[in-house]
Amino acid sequence: MTPARVLAGPPAADALLSDVAARAARLPRPPHLAMVRLGDDPASVSYVRGKDRRAREVGLGSAVYALPETTPQAELLALIARLNADDAVSGILVQLPLPAHVSEQAVLHAIDPRKDVDGFHPLNVGELWAGRPTLIPCTPAGILYLLDLYGLPVAGQRAVVVGRSPIVGRPTAALLLARDATVTLAHSRTRDLGAVTREADLLVVAVGQPHLITPEMVRPGATVIDVGINRVPGGPGGKAHLTGDVHPDVAGVAGAITPVPGGVGPLTIAALLANTVTAAEMQAGRRVPGASAR
Ligand code: NAD
Repeated sequence: MTPARVLAGPPAADALLSDVAARAARLPRPPHLAMVRLGDDPASVSYVRGKDRRAREVGLGSAVYALPETTPQAELLALIARLNADDAVSGILVQLPLPAHVSEQAVLHAIDPRKDVDGFHPLNVGELWAGRPTLIPCTPAGILYLLDLYGLPVAGQRAVVVGRSPIVGRPTAALLLARDATVTLAHSRTRDLGAVTREADLLVVAVGQPHLITPEMVRPGATVIDVGINRVPGGPGGKAHLTGDVHPDVAGVAGAITPVPGGVGPLTIAALLANTVTAAEMQAGRRVPGASAR
């Protein structure tokens, strides 16, 4: 069998970012992204820094509100209320996870749904499940963009999503359903996972377990999207290296596959900036809420 086509993320992310830059330039003023983080968790600091840099590179305004880890919930909610009311702010992102004394639910519910560029507000979650994707969680949006860019079909495909987190698995299933795939959502309690995944024309794996999916679990010729990012020992110089949820030997069976790293990962920030422009377009009356870009 010929080896799988590699679905590289960086060229897809670049294409999406140039579309973002062009759409941003057509607006009366640059879309503006406000990001809030609490504390100094190194991963959160680095994610927010990366988003801020990319936003500026494509002509968006960006501001980071770095608050102490001990910030009371009421103070965080007051900042969100100010950002909601500020017409110059198009999108608001609160970097997760939050410290234990802050309710994630309270924070996500407080963000104006029209500025909810992470797509986690229940109104946007509901719109997505109702088949009207508007502001969509960024990793699922990135996955669909990647499939579209590489010309891989979605409508009518038997899609299996492994993992049901609110950030990746569930919204990916909803988005594939909105795009007319026949969707199965598998998870930690699924019996005989291999029998389920072998049904898939399109297999999306978002679990966080290195090499959970092995070649015999994949239908020959299937498209495999590996969302997993796992740090495992054995990299150069004894350091950890990154690997996905899909075993590398699956490339010998699949028709197309995303690498890890360099697959879905780069699309996530690009999708966030696309959401920021979508939010700005809605606020400028240039887009009807509920009418998806694609
Ligand atoms: P999560 O821990 O919130 O959810 C994991 C899901 O996997 C759960 O729904 C659970 O039911 C399911 N699961 C666990 N064990 C299973 C098993 N043996 N069989 C089937 N299902 C099982 O994780 P998450 O936030 O959805 O992230 C999943 C992975 O994707 C992680 O490796 C994460 O680092 C990665 N991730 C990547 C990106 C990106 O590329 N931009 C973004 C988000 C998450």
